Amino acid sequence: MKLEVDIERLASELDQLANFSEAEPPAVTRIVYSQADQQARLWLRNLCDESGLSTRVDALGNLFARWDVSGHSTGAVGTGSHIDAIPHSGRYDGTVGVLGGLEAIRTLKQSGFKPLRPIELLAFISEEPTRFGIGCLGSRMLCGSLKADQASALKDKQGDSLPAIREAAGFTGALEDVQLPPGYYNAFVELHIEQGPLLEREHIALGVVEGIAAPAALRVHLKGSGGHAGAVLMPQRRDAFLGAAELSLAVEAAALKSGSPDTVGTVGLCDIYPGAANSIPSAVKMEIDVRDVSLTHRDAAVESILQSARQICEKRKLEIETSILNADAPCKSGPAIVEALKQACEAENKTYKMMISRAYHDSLFMARIAPVAMLFIPCRNGYSHRPDEYASRQDIANGVAVLARTLASLAS
Ligand SMILES: [Zn+2]
Repeated sequence: MKLEVDIERLASELDQLANFSEAEPPAVTRIVYSQADQQARLWLRNLCDESGLSTRVDALGNLFARWDVSGHSTGAVGTGSHIDAIPHSGRYDGTVGVLGGLEAIRTLKQSGFKPLRPIELLAFISEEPTRFGIGCLGSRMLCGSLKADQASALKDKQGDSLPAIREAAGFTGALEDVQLPPGYYNAFVELHIEQGPLLEREHIALGVVEGIAAPAALRVHLKGSGGHAGAVLMPQRRDAFLGAAELSLAVEAAALKSGSPDTVGTVGLCDIYPGAANSIPSAVKMEIDVRDVSLTHRDAAVESILQSARQICEKRKLEIETSILNADAPCKSGPAIVEALKQACEAENKTYKMMISRAYHDSLFMARIAPVAMLFIPCRNGYSHRPDEYASRQDIANGVAVLARTLASLAS
């Protein structure tokens, strides 16, 4: 089978999608359900319609675009990723898997291939945790790991609830219906930039992902006592930010001494209240992210951080509230899909290596209802979640060609 990926068309679509943004180019900001996100989704749906796919959106906003020549409704071969983007990020994270997935389907159509199983593109809603503090919202609901009542309780930083926000965005069906029926997908493959430096450094075209690391997210609220920055002397202070500062270093230490080289710990959010230079911080909200491919090491690091938090707050006479926002288990890729990916790399004459995904992806949740695997392409310097995120046309084209071949093999 000869496959001709139209990389010019795809590159132009990636650029067009990047224009739906609330940040100055080259930065991209596309927060879920924002105007930019809504417009981007509409544009994407039109593109799928124009490509002859039948599209639908569910009650949350997940977008499905199906190529069905056989009329079967279950056992589809799925591919896709997300298009939401964290503040001031780049244009390739997620989007390469969505528009690249669409291009893979168009390439197969063009080649004259006839699938026995439906092939479906899925653009997940709300993969990034930016708005609701929880990543992979769409895929969590699709696989049933997050129930409608739990989703309904979610609020954004403004205090607006998920049901109100999604309804205002035009998604009005019952959230109970988002969960996919059993057997909906026979396989799911996600194309994504690596978000790390290994493929580029080793001059390897593609990464076949055999497992996804297990992330945990903690929220910590520290409460001390505020006051005038000039008037309150140091021994009398209960400065919440100093507790947060100490805890941040404890996060670094817990990751460094976990015993696993794969443990990483990050304090990515630290809100100081009241937030004025002449006012002692009386409260701090922090969010901490801890990951490893080993659940044991990850959970041990989390436990050590919680223990440090209690000790620091006792010493500094701060009140503390901690909650675990999520602590999901890692997943292993489906062997048949991994095999199909390897064969597709060989058929396309591309080098590949087996890899672990250290970042969080919707495939982690799709693994609960179907065999999954991921395909990585290199990105420059391993940069991601920043405006200079970049993947070359050649690398994207390689990924799309191998994805197309893999989808064909799984749908045959
Ligand atoms: Zn992503």
